[in-house]
Amino acid sequence: MDKRDYYEVLGVSKTATQDEIKSAFRKLAKKYHPDVSKEENAAEKFKEAQEAYAVLSDEQKRKQYDQFGHAAFDQAGMGGAGGYDFSGFDFSDIFGDLFGGGFGGFSSGFGGGKSRARKGRDTIMRMNLTFEEAVFGCTKSVTLDMMENCDSCNGKGGHGETTCPTCHGSGQVTQEQRTMFGTFATRTTCPNCNGKGKVYKETCSSCRGTGKVKRTVTKDVKVPAGVNTGNQLRIAGAGDGGSNGGPNGDLYIEFTVKRHPIFERDGDDIILELPLTITEAVLGCKKEIPTIYGNVKLTIAPGAQSGDKQRLRGKGVESVNSYGKGDMFVILNVVVPKKLSRDQKKLFEELDKTDLEEGSAFTEIRKYLK
Ligand SMILES: [Zn+2]
Ligand SMILES: [Zn+2]
Repeated sequence: MDKRDYYEVLGVSKTATQDEIKSAFRKLAKKYHPDVSKEENAAEKFKEAQEAYAVLSDEQKRKQYDQFGHAAFDQAGMGGAGGYDFSGFDFSDIFGDLFGGGFGGFSSGFGGGKSRARKGRDTIMRMNLTFEEAVFGCTKSVTLDMMENCDSCNGKGGHGETTCPTCHGSGQVTQEQRTMFGTFATRTTCPNCNGKGKVYKETCSSCRGTGKVKRTVTKDVKVPAGVNTGNQLRIAGAGDGGSNGGPNGDLYIEFTVKRHPIFERDGDDIILELPLTITEAVLGCKKEIPTIYGNVKLTIAPGAQSGDKQRLRGKGVESVNSYGKGDMFVILNVVVPKKLSRDQKKLFEELDKTDLEEGSAFTEIRKYLK
């Protein structure tokens, strides 16, 4: 099934501000929330809007989406089942003011309550690529320090679980707050168990009570052809481990591409500056030039000027977020020699006796001679 564009789902433009995105999502959430909506397919529409919002409200994920489309969150074979997994996303600021707080636990199983499953932290790493690796794609081995759930205590941080005596397992305590307007009762997270509702007789020695241990893993990362500096690749599930049975966070790999000695990239296009001698420029010539796909023959017509551009269709870089390739642009640079042999100088002197002043540049300046 074709996934709808996230911007289209929320009905906002690609340049929408965060406020516009939030407000668009609030409208949709009100309309389609499964607990209140009478609309047809409300649950699906609600989920679709949630997914779009989870991505577009996060600047980093939005940037990813703008670059790679849905493919950004669809790394086949990397643990993602396709589509953006937003189970760790915190919608509470939206639903808090939508439904007056205390809202949670709707169909998808996340929301309020104690000890809820939380997705692990997303992590980012930088990767340097050569020009060729970026242009043609490559597989790179990366070593990651991942924080995973401690096996010894199952990520709980301790052994000998008992109900927290302070909050009696609810994970929350009621505190009285005296203000000039009177006394208010507020409910806050239990400080004794940090909202878990449980305490442990013995702190786990393997993880020192954190529930997490560092594990070094080596992963093969497939870098798609056409990436460029600043592009990010998301690897689902390669971030830090979740808590209370929540899924791992994701890993973002941000690329820095090394410059090539002669080829320059402009998006998917390749620019090559081609030096010509003055006689090649004047008389025209055939030249063998390099492209990223191997040598090609180029015909330069007589009278070539510095800055003239020739386009070689399809000789650019494979596009990372759509099909097709960019083009290559050859920009001519006529090099005037600075040193001449005696014979060359003679020939130029002969040439100088002929009339080479042709074209408007010469007539224009002559007009102003006094
Ligand atoms: Zn407690
Ligand atoms: Zn442990």
